[in-house]
Amino acid sequence: MSDPYIGGCACGVIRYEVTGEPMVMNDCQCRQCQRDSGTGHGSHLTFVGAPVKTSGEASQWEVVGEGGTRKSRAFCPTCGNPVYLTFPDMPEVFVASAGSLDDPGRYKPQMVMWASAGHAWDHLDPAVPKFDKMPPQTA
Ligand SMILES: [Zn+2]
Ligand SMILES: [Zn+2]
Repeated sequence: MSDPYIGGCACGVIRYEVTGEPMVMNDCQCRQCQRDSGTGHGSHLTFVGAPVKTSGEASQWEVVGEGGTRKSRAFCPTCGNPVYLTFPDMPEVFVASAGSLDDPGRYKPQMVMWASAGHAWDHLDPAVPKFDKMPPQTA
């Protein structure tokens, strides 16, 4: 088994540790991720059923995705960094923000979601498969 995925916010208040491999790693160019990241896309590692430890009191902002999925975006109340996402209706899923990893080099995007909302200036690797919205199998 590989090393746990460890990360946190810039000021160090919020920390997390996930034991296991991500089911998928993807960029997302939806408007929410643009606002969340402050640039053209979010980069996320999605873990399913992996043991997760978190520390620090994250602020939670709950949003509803286009498909009706409730998402809770956890960010640091002090430095404001987005650190992870959870789903009130899918407690087994944990999504870490790639930039919050202690070693962001472990992030390797496998697909791009919501490419239809992307901008020309946010140019991503042409070799990575792109979907207009969500990939069909997870819609
Ligand atoms: Zn912080
Ligand atoms: Zn998104």
